[in-house]
Amino acid sequence: MNLAISADRLFTPDEEIANPILLIRDGQIAALGPREEVALPGGAEARHFPGAVILPGMLDLHIHGGAGHDLMRPDEQGRERFERHLFRRGVTAYLPTTMTASVEATLKAIEFLADGIEAAGQGDQSTGGGARARFSGRARPLGIHLEGPFISPEKAGVQPVEYMQAPSPELFERFWQAARGHIKLMTAAPELPGAEELIAIATRRGVTISLGHSNADYETARRGIEAGARHATHTFNAMRALEHRAPGIAGAVLSDDRAYAEVIADGLHVHPAIVKLIVRAKGELRSVLVTDAISATGQGDGRFQLGPVEVQVEGQRCLWNGHLAGSVLTLDRAVRNVMEFADLDLATAWRMASANPARMLGLQPAHGRLLPNAPADLVVANPAGEILAVFGEGRQLTALSSEQTAPASYY
Ligand SMILES: [Zn+2]
Repeated sequence: MNLAISADRLFTPDEEIANPILLIRDGQIAALGPREEVALPGGAEARHFPGAVILPGMLDLHIHGGAGHDLMRPDEQGRERFERHLFRRGVTAYLPTTMTASVEATLKAIEFLADGIEAAGQGDQSTGGGARARFSGRARPLGIHLEGPFISPEKAGVQPVEYMQAPSPELFERFWQAARGHIKLMTAAPELPGAEELIAIATRRGVTISLGHSNADYETARRGIEAGARHATHTFNAMRALEHRAPGIAGAVLSDDRAYAEVIADGLHVHPAIVKLIVRAKGELRSVLVTDAISATGQGDGRFQLGPVEVQVEGQRCLWNGHLAGSVLTLDRAVRNVMEFADLDLATAWRMASANPARMLGLQPAHGRLLPNAPADLVVANPAGEILAVFGEGRQLTALSSEQTAPASYY
């Protein structure tokens, strides 16, 4: 079936196209361009979104749960509910992120996450059979993000100190085997003994290393980047503070063009002015928006599970023993917040939640950009970044009500 989507503008996001048409065939982008240049096949179904913008589906590479589901729990129904919740918010792909837990609990969680990745991947390759239908309307897990256990007890945040481990190639190998090779990202502290060797080993496997939950000084963090680390986990949170004579891990990451940096742009984890500083330092290509969202997202106030700990949620704040414990942020709201905090236009802010994480993880060209032959995972939004519709493999599965796209404020 052919589907033609048109709107006011389209951001690939490297290019802006005015009066665009995007043509979808068999779940893939068959063509895109200005209306006068794209030949419409006879019988194509047309959907026009006046005043709207067509954008790539978003990718959240740091997320622990949502819609009541915690990703450390092997619960198939919960996973489906969570993936549908993400999809409705314009997130068409994600990296399920572990919490530091016992080795046994981690191995069990990883195996279940790998099952989900493989099942969604089969849906991808199916030619219109049941598997594809089963996964339509769901965000697709692309690989696992291990947040620990090779992190520092000195910057634990809400991660349980008792399960943290010294970097160990043997233990990493056990995780790798349990994940059947589906680990894409690992947060590690470069100051721990053996960290540089582990960073090099994981990097050779194609795992991106993210510096985080770390008390490293500037020189040690630099050595981590030399060993292969290319990203920073929730920059400024759970890391040594930046001081003008001791720039620390934050100073190392922000001043090195090889490293990307993620930020939780909810206005709570870091001050809006610091979000702007991160974006200015890393530029429009190496800034990455994440949510670090937990099971409570979309559930209102109450007590919720985050891996092995119970978190109290009040409004936008998730607390455990006085620490911020993840967020209930959604990625579309993070985009709108960063537009406000850092004076960015929609295309630049959206890139930080789509093309940038995909490029950092080596997932392009299939993810994060609108290109011919890529999966037709895309979002239609208004110019303020409020989501109007989401398409997964070309099927429109949601058109949100005005209530669900209430204008963003940063809390
Ligand atoms: Zn996290």
